[in-house]
Amino acid sequence: MKRFLFLFATAALVCPLVLVLFAGCAGEGERTLYTIDAAYEEGVLTAEMTVSYYNDTGGSRGELWFNLYGNAYREGAAYAPVSASFAASAYYAGVSCGGMEIRSVSPCTGWEVSGADENVLRVSLSSPVPADGRCEFTVAYTLTLAEVNHRTGVTEHAVNLGNFYPVLCVWEGSGFRECVYAANGDPFYSACADYAVTLTVPASYTAAASGEIAAAEESGGRRRYEMTLENARDFAVVLSEEFSVEQRTAGDATVLYYYYDDENARASADLARDCLLFFADTFGDYAYGTYSVVQTGFCYGGMEYPALVYVSDALAEEDAAYTLVHETAHQWWYAAVGSDQLLHAWQDEGLAEYSALLYFEESGGYGFTREGLLRAAKGMYNAYYSVRMQVFGEADTTMDRALSDFGEYDYVALTYAKGALLFDALREGLGDKKFFAGLRRYYSACSGKLAAPENLAASFKNAGAEEIIASYREGKAVI
Ligand SMILES: [Zn+2]
Repeated sequence: MKRFLFLFATAALVCPLVLVLFAGCAGEGERTLYTIDAAYEEGVLTAEMTVSYYNDTGGSRGELWFNLYGNAYREGAAYAPVSASFAASAYYAGVSCGGMEIRSVSPCTGWEVSGADENVLRVSLSSPVPADGRCEFTVAYTLTLAEVNHRTGVTEHAVNLGNFYPVLCVWEGSGFRECVYAANGDPFYSACADYAVTLTVPASYTAAASGEIAAAEESGGRRRYEMTLENARDFAVVLSEEFSVEQRTAGDATVLYYYYDDENARASADLARDCLLFFADTFGDYAYGTYSVVQTGFCYGGMEYPALVYVSDALAEEDAAYTLVHETAHQWWYAAVGSDQLLHAWQDEGLAEYSALLYFEESGGYGFTREGLLRAAKGMYNAYYSVRMQVFGEADTTMDRALSDFGEYDYVALTYAKGALLFDALREGLGDKKFFAGLRRYYSACSGKLAAPENLAASFKNAGAEEIIASYREGKAVI
């Protein structure tokens, strides 16, 4: 995600050794398949989702957990998705609520919605599924959308269907990981899966989607989209009755820019293509066959999903361009290489920020430079540090924290700004050749998997790099 705007705040071959280093980079082989059949009408999504679960946990499982992110929008949610400071820009029509209702799960021996905030669906399987085995069941649910400029909601010009289905929790050795929503950051953590999504909408709507749209048939005033995506940790759709589309080609990928209010739409589509090509050249091939950049209502700058990103319709030209590049970098750092965004948010945000810097350093576009972006990051971090010192006499500069342990400004200063500074320090310490080789190795070894910070540090194959990363993470490095 790009939360605050920059201006507002101021395939290498993997050698055997590397394979050993990345032994802990989880997620490989067969995958779970979500087959979702959904219909959208006037703020309500009615769906049946058949899960063909592949058990890669290493043991027999009798119960599965799913995160219900859509339920965070319900009235009275303890972990509300929008903080007070963003409420006015998010709730454009006044306070509005939604929620995700599970109607049935079948076959199974029982199910319940539980968790810290009615955010987890627990399904007791008809019979335990052995390690490396499969089981299949169907979840029927209804997602009611709030009127909100947010990841899941009806906005003024589009319908955001991010996080629109129950998503399997990550197994962490002793249990499934529950994710509570957070107004700060991206509270999403999931393994890669395959998707076959059918979505029927009023024919007046155009759908932008993660993945390929295999068919779009119209009948009786409705349009039925068939969409597929493989090896992705999430799937999102945005609907609008106002979309125009610009199309580009970037290598083997089709780039689609969906917009309704952009005088520079052709330049925006060109930028999406150009930065996608730059990142593929710099880090390794783009993972998917399509890439959709979608202008929509969103109270922050932008939001990343695999093969699809949101860019807020409220942004000025330069901010929109910066956000587009930042979100595109997330196709490498989040979509392909997953990480724990609830505990190590800097791992993908810091790298997305620094990747955007690399693009603008190379292209020189929109007036952004390496020096200017570093100056802005240092300014933000130093402002955080000095204010904390003046007010409290101390400043906690550790980067690994639960999202709930960050204040809003702390989060931006320590994950985005300090995160970018960490990667610049690495580059300065290692030199360009080793720095870029390390990032390519990180992408190659961990693409499609969940990477721990240790996987990132090990990718540079350099004790000095590990020390730099550790000193920033632990807060010792004061810039
Ligand atoms: Zn981001």
